[in-house]
Formats: sequence, structure tokens, C-alpha cells
Amino acid sequence: MAGRLDGKVALISGGARGQGAAEGKVFAREGAKVVLGDVLDTEGLQTVSEIQAAGGSAVYIHLDVTQEGEWKNAVSAAVRNFGKLNILVNNAGILRMEGIEDTTLEIWNRVIAVNQTGVFLGMKHAIPVLRQAGGGSIINISSIAGLIGVGAAAAYQATKGAVRILTKCAAVQYAKENIRINSIHPGVITTLMVTQGIDPEARKLFEQATPLGREGSAEEIANGVLFLASDESSYMTGAELVLDGGYTAQ
Ligand code: NAD
Repeated sequence: MAGRLDGKVALISGGARGQGAAEGKVFAREGAKVVLGDVLDTEGLQTVSEIQAAGGSAVYIHLDVTQEGEWKNAVSAAVRNFGKLNILVNNAGILRMEGIEDTTLEIWNRVIAVNQTGVFLGMKHAIPVLRQAGGGSIINISSIAGLIGVGAAAAYQATKGAVRILTKCAAVQYAKENIRINSIHPGVITTLMVTQGIDPEARKLFEQATPLGREGSAEEIANGVLFLASDESSYMTGAELVLDGGYTAQ
């Protein structure tokens, strides 16, 4: 059976674990050749082994998304290993839960560097290579925290809002070159970011306030990313795909 990403090459930042790893696995299953970049080298190599064991093609590259040189290196690794690049998923991110007064300038700058500057640098260095391939798809992982206020996580919310609008800016600029750029807005998804970063009581309240009554899984987000990465979404650019169990519908 034909894969939904047959013949495509994808680079996923933050691909060692969580949603990025789930995306790598789904992409490889659907026929893509995958480059996973992360700062967690052991986990990243393990995820690549799991993809290969399942019959997929994948390589791991050390990629700190705050470092411009490492982005150049990661894009080159895609071309060196697999000949081209068709898909970029800007997935790497960090969560800080402090409100405005508790957010130190150091926390603020770090969250901006990873979640916002990282996305900018990824697009900046992938776009020339996507252009060479005749176009492509970029998926930027924002959050429902980029759509509505949640009353904490000031720096995180600022970056996820920035990712939403930077996505639209880039989508308009590059549409003529057949480079589609969309954002994904997950609700609370059960990954280490949440199990280690959000208080269990707050998770329970959030779950109760979610129409579908539960947290989402990394695979449920990966399926949305797969749609945006594939040609099935060929008329979609500059859009927001919200995967939140109905939380922002209320
Ligand atoms: P996670 O913590 O499991 O994964 C994040 C990954 O990003 C990790 O592998 C981490 O090592 C990597 N990363 C962190 N800093 C990096 C850096 N400087 N360079 C490269 N990689 C780096 O969490 P996740 O839930 O899989 O998060 C994936 C994305 O989804 C993030 O952008 C996050 O903000 C977003 N998101 C998560 C949720 C949720 O509820 N889990 C909700 C909305 C959005």
C-alpha cells in the first residue's frame, strides 16, 4: 500500500521523545525518510533505532534549536543522507509555568530562544532547501496557549502566540513558491513536558474542563502533523489546526 509520505524527506526538531518522536514514527511508517534533531542524544538515537527496527529510514542529528550553526548542520544532514528536504516540523519546545511577576528575565529569554527563535531559525534555514525541492510543508507546533490566555506560563504563552503569527507571515510570503506553512495547537497532551511540568491537580481540572474529558496523546497530535505534512492538505496554508479535545470551542 502506498504511504502518505512516500518519497518525502522530513526534519523534526525535538524529535527524541514525546510528540516529536511520535511524529517521526508515523512519518516513517508512511514512507518518509526522517531526520530527528534534539539535544537529548541518547533518547534521539534510541528513537531512531526503534524506527529502523520497524523498517523505517531515519537518522539522528544533535540540534540545539537556539544555535544557528546547528540548524545549518541539520538541514545539510537531511540533504547529505537523503538527497533533499520536503518537510520541516518545528516541534522542539520547553514549558515554564510562571506568571509575569515570577518570570525572571533569564527564564523569559530562554523560553523565547527555544520556542520562538528556534522556529524562526528552522524556517530560515530550511526554506532555501525546500525551494530547491520545488516546495514543501512546514508545520510549526504552537499550542492552545498561543490562542487563549491560561493565567500563567507568561513566557510560554508569548512564544506560542508568536509562533502562530510568524506562521501566517511566512505562509503569505512563501505561498507562491509552493511552500505551505501551518501551525498546530495541541491542548494538554500526555508527554513528559506535562507529567513533569504541570501539577497533577491542575491537570485534573483541565481534563474536567475539556469537552472530550481527557488529555490527548502524542500519536493524536502526530496524526494531525501527518495531514499537514502530506499532499492531502495541499490547499491549506497559514492555518491553525487545533487538536485540543474541544477545550477552546467553549
Ligand atoms: P517533550 O518535553 O516530551 O518534548 C520536547 C522535546 O523538545 C524534547 O525532546 C526536548 O529535548 C526538545 N528540546 C527542548 N529544548 C530543545 C532545544 N534547545 N533544541 C532542540 N530540542 C529541544 O514535550 P512534547 O509535549 O512532546 O512537546 C512538543 C511540542 O509540543 C513543544 O513545542 C510543546 O511546547 C508543544 N506542546 C505541548 C503540549 C503538551 O501538552 N504536551 C501542548 C501544546 C503544545
